[in-house]
Amino acid sequence: MTRVELLTVGDELLSGLVLNSNVARVADALGSLGLGLSMVCDVADDLDEIVAALRAATARADIVLCSGGLGPTSDDLTRDALAAAAGVDLVRDPTLIDVIRSRYAQWNVVPTDVALRQADVPVGAEVVPNPQGSAPGLRMELAGAVVIALPGVPRELVAMLDEQVVPYLAKTVATQRRETRTVRVALAGESTIAAALADLEARGAVRFAYVAAPGDVAVRLTGDPELVAEATEQVVAQVGDAAYSTDGRKMPEVLRDLLLAEGGTVAVAESVTGGMVGAALTDPSGASATFLGGALVYATAAKAELGVPADLLAERGPVDPDVAAALAARVRARLGARYGLATTGVAGPDPVDDVPAGTVYVAVDSDKGCVVARLALPPSRDLVRELSVVHVLDLLRRHLLDLPLLDAPASRPVRATRN
Ligand code: ATP
Repeated sequence: MTRVELLTVGDELLSGLVLNSNVARVADALGSLGLGLSMVCDVADDLDEIVAALRAATARADIVLCSGGLGPTSDDLTRDALAAAAGVDLVRDPTLIDVIRSRYAQWNVVPTDVALRQADVPVGAEVVPNPQGSAPGLRMELAGAVVIALPGVPRELVAMLDEQVVPYLAKTVATQRRETRTVRVALAGESTIAAALADLEARGAVRFAYVAAPGDVAVRLTGDPELVAEATEQVVAQVGDAAYSTDGRKMPEVLRDLLLAEGGTVAVAESVTGGMVGAALTDPSGASATFLGGALVYATAAKAELGVPADLLAERGPVDPDVAAALAARVRARLGARYGLATTGVAGPDPVDDVPAGTVYVAVDSDKGCVVARLALPPSRDLVRELSVVHVLDLLRRHLLDLPLLDAPASRPVRATRN
């Protein structure tokens, strides 16, 4: 199997100033060929460090991709490092001088001597054209491996991956049919899911990777397409109805599609989540066909204004299952939606009127009936709000698909009326 490594060059990556997003771009491009990255190394803008990283990577890998450090300034050292690692000189390429001159002419700038450094090519290297920028890429053999150096600017990198690198690798290295599928799972812990899938994983035919966000785990399956399809079915069989998508769609997209399929619409009344449910539901394109709008009813008076009975609020306070139910019903009626959602709770860090932080009620109301769940979430403000969004969206999914309600320590149904 072809081993591919990536060196990403730049102080800004090591200092955290710029997120190293080129890794994902390179991995995506390789994935289209059934290739994957075996190792990624961030290197500082330092000649010796880059030379050492090149030597180490070329000793292990068949293909070494580099991103960054090809520009004209003194901290752009990738071409010098390639020449040093190969023990060859840099020679200025006259054709590249013309390319750089005409590129700068497009910007009405005459290139300085510094800019012309980008025309320097290590002896024995081939130039990889850069259709989007002035710094060309370089390809050369080093210690039995092929090194392909690309600019760091993401737009330029992507264009060169698509137009140069992928076609080159498709021609020159052994690729295999490979596919990645993502199964998304709501409100089940990463370790619980991994335990449920341990036997499947142990078979080894398909690679499993877990990407966890609060309340949401993506299980990525990679391997031969038929085996991945088989493993996807088995994952769903093991995980059950917590698996909400098998094609990578996120929860808001799944809800949009379920609502679109039945011509349904949704409206939200949010307290503790302060608009985050509406933001999530309007994230996918085409949301306007299913999302009508909402009310941000943070203060108790605002809840009364929406139509929650004042005596109910006075008697029980705003964090109450019947208040959640009333909010969902009222916003649904006010906006003429088929489904109404609501959240009300205590985000913390402090309790409110003796209600502990992390106590939240989420509700869905429709002609089918009304369901309310009581959440007991970890009392961390951000987490309470994020998880409340996941819970209310999953409650809507279960309501739409007539699935049983989640009954776990973190979420107990407290009211489920059927019309
Ligand atoms: P140029 O100097 O011509 O712009 P270059 O090849 O020298 O191109 P760098 O100078 O290393 O590239 O990076 C240019 C910009 O591209 C950086 O400021 C940074 O914003 C972005 N960049 C570089 N590397 C990465 C990376 N790995 N992930 C995301 N962005 C990156």
